[in-house]
Amino acid sequence: MVKVCPICFSKQIGFAGEKPGSTGFLTSAVYKCDNCGYQGALILEVTEEELKELRSSI
Ligand SMILES: [Zn+2]
Repeated sequence: MVKVCPICFSKQIGFAGEKPGSTGFLTSAVYKCDNCGYQGALILEVTEEELKELRSSI
């Protein structure tokens, strides 16, 4: 499985840090895409095969 950006499907996405959740003690991971600048908790985890299909559907 590979982690990819949900916006541009780039693999250039990395862990950007953690931000406190609304409850104060739970944290959620934040990821940042180097390709399109997307930043958020949502990323896609797909196989190389699924990634090829995603990219060909753009
Ligand atoms: Zn992106």
